[in-house]
Formats: sequence, C-alpha cells, structure tokens
Amino acid sequence: MTRPVALTLNVGSSSLKFGLFDIEGPPIELGFGIVENIGTALRLKFTCNGTTITRASSERGPADHRSAVSAAFALLHSQVPSAKVVAVGHRVVHGGPAYAAPRIVSDNLLDDLSRFAPFAPLHQPHNIAGIKAAMAEFPDALQVACFDTAFHRNHPKVNDLFALPRAYYERGVRRYGFHGLSYDYVAGELRRIAPQLHAGRVVMAHLGNGASMCAMEGGRSVASTMGFTALDGLPMGTRTGQIDPGIIFYLLREEGMALDEVIELFYSKSGLLGLSDLSHDMRVLEAAGTPEAEEAIDYFVFRIRRELGALAATLGGLDAVVFCGGIGENSRLVRERVCDGMGWIGIGIDPDRNAENATVISPDHSRIQVMVIPTSEELVIARAIKRFREAPNMPEAGGKPLGQAGPDPA
Ligand code: ADP
Repeated sequence: MTRPVALTLNVGSSSLKFGLFDIEGPPIELGFGIVENIGTALRLKFTCNGTTITRASSERGPADHRSAVSAAFALLHSQVPSAKVVAVGHRVVHGGPAYAAPRIVSDNLLDDLSRFAPFAPLHQPHNIAGIKAAMAEFPDALQVACFDTAFHRNHPKVNDLFALPRAYYERGVRRYGFHGLSYDYVAGELRRIAPQLHAGRVVMAHLGNGASMCAMEGGRSVASTMGFTALDGLPMGTRTGQIDPGIIFYLLREEGMALDEVIELFYSKSGLLGLSDLSHDMRVLEAAGTPEAEEAIDYFVFRIRRELGALAATLGGLDAVVFCGGIGENSRLVRERVCDGMGWIGIGIDPDRNAENATVISPDHSRIQVMVIPTSEELVIARAIKRFREAPNMPEAGGKPLGQAGPDPA
C-alpha cells in the first residue's frame, strides 16, 4: 500500500538535508536525512521509524550537487518504498525584495529566483537545481518554495538601507536578512508558549554554522544582523560576519589576491575556523582549550553581546531573548557567556536551568525572559505545503510567515 507523504529539501553549499512528513493532519516528521561532503566523497545518513542507516557514496571522484540529490532520492525510494511523494517543499535562500511568503513553483517563479542568484551565488543556484531535480523526479507532486528572506520583508525601510547612492537600493542592494524559516518556526513556538512575549520586543539568536540575530516586535521582524548576503553580522563557523569593507580593497590591491580567493577566504576560511586555526565546530573549540580556540569563542560572544545591545536599542527595550540553532540550543557555555554581566539591561540566567537547556533559562521574576527554543526549518516548510494542498488555487495560500500572523501553528 502506498502512503502519501511530503518531502522537504534543503540544498546547501556542501550538504543537503531532507525530511519526510505525514501531512494528512498536522505535519508529523517521519524521517530525516542528510547528505554531506558534496564536492568530495558523499556521506549519507537517514533516520526513519527509529532506525538510522549510514552510507558512503560508491561513486568514484568528487560528487556534485546533482549526484547528492539523486543519492537522497535513491535512499528515500529504497528505505521507504511505500512513500508516495505528493508534495515537495524547498528551502530557498533568496526570495528577493518581493516574496514575503511561500509560493507554488512555476516557470515565472523559477525565472525570478534565477534573477536573485547573483545575490546569493553560493546557495541560490543549488536551491534552484534542487527544485528542478525534484520536479523531474516527482513530476506530479506539488512543488513549493519557502524563502529564508521572507520573514524579514516588512522591515521599516530605514533598517534595510545601506548608505549608498539611492539607485543601488532600487537595484536590489539592500538588507534582506536570512534564517527566516528558523525565525518563523521559533516565533510560532514563542506565540504558543508565551503569547504575551511574542507580542512584545524579542531578540532571537540563531546560532549554528550560520549565525544571525533578529529583532522582532509584535511578532514581526524589524531588523536583522544579516544584510545583503548571509556574510554580514555575527562571525560564523567559517564566515567572517561584519567586517570593514576596506579590508577587501586592501586584499585585492595590496596583497594581490584574486576576487575568488577573497570570496573563498570570507565564506570558507574565516569565522571560528579562521580565528581558532583549528575548527569551525563549537564543540571542538569548547573542548580544545587552546588560547586560539578561547579567543575565537571570545570574539563570537563579544559580537553577539554587541548585537544584542544594538537590537535592544532598535526595539526601544527588551522583553525576551531566545536562543536557537545548534550552538544556541546546546552550548550552555556560549549562552552563559553571552548573558554574563548583562544584569544592567535586565538579563540574567539560572545556571541549573541553563545546564539543562531548559525552555526558560532566566531566573524566576526576571524582567527579561531568556529562552531556548529548538528550531525546525523543515516543519515550517511542511506546514506551508499543507496550507497550499488545502487551498491550491490561491497564489499566496502559503500565507504569511507562521510566526507573524494567520492561524495558530498546526
Ligand atoms: P547548521 O547551521 O549547519 O544547520 P547547526 O544548527 O546544526 O548547523 O549548528 C552546528 C553548530 O552547533 C556547530 O558549531 C556545533 O559544534 C554546535 N553544537 C552542536 N551541539 C553542541 C553542543 N552540545 N555544545 C556546543 N556546541 C554544539
């Protein structure tokens, strides 16, 4: 017997994540897979029905994104032969200035998404390739695109400006903000757990390999630390975060670096990896104890604290801080060090609650609630698919980002 399921697809620069969902009722995750090491030798992992299988690609030579997608589909067919994929939801990094909600994939949409590729050259082409591969593999399935920029589309204009001549803004050079699917999920959870906080002034910190912070007021994003590209703001696993653009001119002109080398330096060799000279991985750095690893963590924490102060000022005050992402959800050290000495603004944490990764880690009666909310970008995509399946003829049936408005999250 076949079972109708929805697939979520998140094709990144070096890894691909996919989820399998039952969407008959509120979406339920049935399985989750990851294909890593794209560009070298693929490693596959898939968990379904409590069983995890791992595989190494048998292909000779470096495997590209196309083979990674094929490997994921092959794994799915072999491990869950009863699954009939009726819909596929795609994480798309860039929805440009206009798309403030998920959309059904059409030729026009694909054209638009291709136009935004120069804004996110390391991600958008892979996202589009993933959509096309899924359309070829599941020709009868509904295809839905969900944008990482959508959650931030209602910023006050001044928060999206760069101080360049005006024409550049019109040409698309503006602050877009990213990690929107994660913030959408976390905002929805916050609304469920503590509606009064969701309605207030909140800073959400998505701290993973990519890292950013978002200021939210009344359930709407008003500012993000990420800007035109996903390179701005906080330092990340391998990305610089905010940097003086004069450094780029210096590297090009004085050190004779090629543009592609600078791009590689900023995206893949910097951040925690560059500063620690050891690893992009926070777990490794916390365990290492070398002066360089300590300094990398120090810089990460310093920038988070700085942005927290700036975003609180943007909001005119603060009611809650929410941590999410691999580091935000698991690193008690980073959370403790971010919050340490911030009593002046009303932030404090309870060490026992922090050690347990509890939902609320601030002490009782704190003026500002400090929380940990595990994120799920996949669930946000699955919910968008479900809304489109229930109202297929509405171009924007995907609705507003869930954390912002509309029905309570399923
Ligand atoms: P991605 O942005 O690729 O989705 P994740 O959100 O999974 O990444 O975050 C990965 C980061 O989370 C890594 O730096 C990893 O070391 C860190 N991390 C995961 N678990 C822990 C932990 N228990 N303590 C500290 N850091 C952790």
